[in-house]
Amino acid sequence: MSQWREVGPGNYVLGTSGAALNTGLVVGEERALVIDTGCGPRQANEILAAVREVTELPLVVVNTHAHFDHFFGNAVFAKAGVTEFWAHGNCAAAIQNHGEEQRKLAASVEPEVADPDAEDCGIVVPNRLVGTEPVKLDLGGSTATLFHLGPAHTDGDLLVGTEHCLFAGDIVEQGFHPSFEDSYPERWVDVLRHVSALRHNYEYLVPGHGEPVGDAFVRTMADTMATAVRSARQATREMPNDATKAVPILPYGPEQSRWFIHRLMKLHRGV
Ligand SMILES: [Zn+2]
Repeated sequence: MSQWREVGPGNYVLGTSGAALNTGLVVGEERALVIDTGCGPRQANEILAAVREVTELPLVVVNTHAHFDHFFGNAVFAKAGVTEFWAHGNCAAAIQNHGEEQRKLAASVEPEVADPDAEDCGIVVPNRLVGTEPVKLDLGGSTATLFHLGPAHTDGDLLVGTEHCLFAGDIVEQGFHPSFEDSYPERWVDVLRHVSALRHNYEYLVPGHGEPVGDAFVRTMADTMATAVRSARQATREMPNDATKAVPILPYGPEQSRWFIHRLMKLHRGV
């Protein structure tokens, strides 16, 4: 069973099965905003049913970034009448150009997704784009601000801020190691420090996965990542031919540490 948790008046977070995603819901007087739609029709239908327990208002969707567990549920919402799908421009382009490459990953959680022609298994690309300027969505009596703080977990991360809550997507992850596959580790540290600097604006901070966190968590995540960047750079200077030897000294799991080094080396040839 899905269970909403209130994170400020009219603001909710829902943890569903599948990839343990946090879906956000911001309810205004005229419409409601759904933040991330799940990894396929099963999870999306679960999210939609839970949304309908809270509100019958027309819905708007935002995808925080282009990872399958955040956007493969869009088709269910399109069928339910949603016409506005918001995302950062880079996120929409990644879904458009590389979304299909993630179908296998989505199908590992919801097998029916393997068939792109199966019901509600097509990819719905966001059609309302955010760039460098924040976008204020008027929900009637309340506003949600969609904004980008630079490359971090991906090059198209969107945050959603309301009067009470900041939905941070996978820029912040609680209970899991951060995922570095498409990341910009050094810039990510800056973005985390920026998120921390916004702490007085929001009572709640909801990560992409896991429990809501406080500012201390965000600062620790930034400090850990900054230290990891320094360690990885030093190790790759000392062992330029086998940078993966640095994996055991990094504060992440082996797979994520390998991605971390791979991304650093790719972004700065000869780290
Ligand atoms: Zn992600």
